Amino acid sequence: AYNRVLEIHKQHLSPVVTAYFQKPLLLHQGHMEWLFDAEGNRYLDFFSGIVTVSVGHCHPKVNTIAQKQLGRLWHTSTVFFNPSIHEYAEKLSALLPEPLKVIFLTNSGSEANDLAMLMARAHTNNIDIISFRGAYHGCSPYTLGLTNVGPYKMQLPSGMGCQSTMCPDVFRGPWGGSHCRDSPVQTIRKCSCAPDCCQAKDQYIEQFKDTLNTSVAKSVAGFFAEPIQGVNGVVQYPKGFLKEAFELVRERGGVCIADEVQTGFGRLGSHFWGFQTHDVLPDIVTMAKGIGNGFPMAAVVTSPEIAKSLAKCLLHFNTFGGNPVACAIGSAVLAVIKEENLQENSQEVGTYMLLKFAKLRDEFEIVGDIRGKGLMIGIEMVQDKMSRQPLSREEVNQIHEDCKNMGLLIGRGGIFSQTFRIAPSMCITKPEVDFAVDVLRSALTQHLE
Ligand code: PMP
Repeated sequence: AYNRVLEIHKQHLSPVVTAYFQKPLLLHQGHMEWLFDAEGNRYLDFFSGIVTVSVGHCHPKVNTIAQKQLGRLWHTSTVFFNPSIHEYAEKLSALLPEPLKVIFLTNSGSEANDLAMLMARAHTNNIDIISFRGAYHGCSPYTLGLTNVGPYKMQLPSGMGCQSTMCPDVFRGPWGGSHCRDSPVQTIRKCSCAPDCCQAKDQYIEQFKDTLNTSVAKSVAGFFAEPIQGVNGVVQYPKGFLKEAFELVRERGGVCIADEVQTGFGRLGSHFWGFQTHDVLPDIVTMAKGIGNGFPMAAVVTSPEIAKSLAKCLLHFNTFGGNPVACAIGSAVLAVIKEENLQENSQEVGTYMLLKFAKLRDEFEIVGDIRGKGLMIGIEMVQDKMSRQPLSREEVNQIHEDCKNMGLLIGRGGIFSQTFRIAPSMCITKPEVDFAVDVLRSALTQHLE
């Protein structure tokens, strides 16, 4: 049966639909933080379907509410009202500060960012949009102009009017290290420090100003930032950087967009939204992934004023956005996060996990950096701590595969896919973290033998 699946995949699925591992996993079932294959082998899921299954696979409460809604009403489109969308809009808006109270529902993070881009342009009457190198904001033709991470656009022309700026990467420096393809300067900072004490902020701000002062970005419409870069390998900025960057963008008439697709809904532990960890108030917030625990839904939240400026389009429409089943699931997810104290769990178990993984950095020369916040953690693999050259793709693949063979699924990120990404469902427990750390330690030891 497995070979038949491979055959169908090869014949009928686009060649860009690639999967992890030499022999991709065929998963049949999920329960909370665990996944099961056809043979009944179980895997601890430390990547939660790319940072998406926020409260656990097939969470019983979410399932019950989804099934109830499936039996009641599937679809109305937005030209008719249904209670599900209004209940959800009220609950979601209550979680955001003033004036972020107007919601537009979509089906994916890319769509949400497309719409945010349109809103920024409609509101400011400007065109240019800025994002960081290493950013991932989507794969639609519009958002591909914003996405600046490795394989996603190397060979494609960038989207209209998008400008990339350096990423203030605390570990690799502003250009991602000497091996970064667009690096104008060959640098690797030899000493890294935690975002909290990073001295490099002012240097990064000067570079950010240079981008804003170029002719393309003089009249900026919007600036997109992930509070922590996810696909780029859990990249954090120096403390205070984002706040100053937001001020500079606003001085030039632009709006600031926080892409909370990975960082929202309590994953970072200390705060419900990633932007709160930077002490900033965005003009537009986009969210997806964890919002629906794996059910396709996404949202853009903004102020009444910015929402109104989109009325220049006369109508903006999305057939499935605000689907009754999606909204019922969204409400159930919010209820579960609250009832089961999952944000607090992210904080507690995340802090525990960061310390445990930090020990691996001390034990192994090839573990270059451990970073992140709450349940969004990056483990960057290097040839050695001094050079910080990325460990070869083959070696990282092998360690990744060995973890899977020992029952642990983790993600990958970074320009050279050199960073392991850890983002389990928020129901994760400390004993499961211990299991994961033991598995990774065994895989690293095996690699050195
Ligand atoms: N923004 C961020 C930060 C993301 O990580 C992603 C997906 N990896 C997206 C946007 C795009 O979301 P989607 O795949 O749902 O279009």
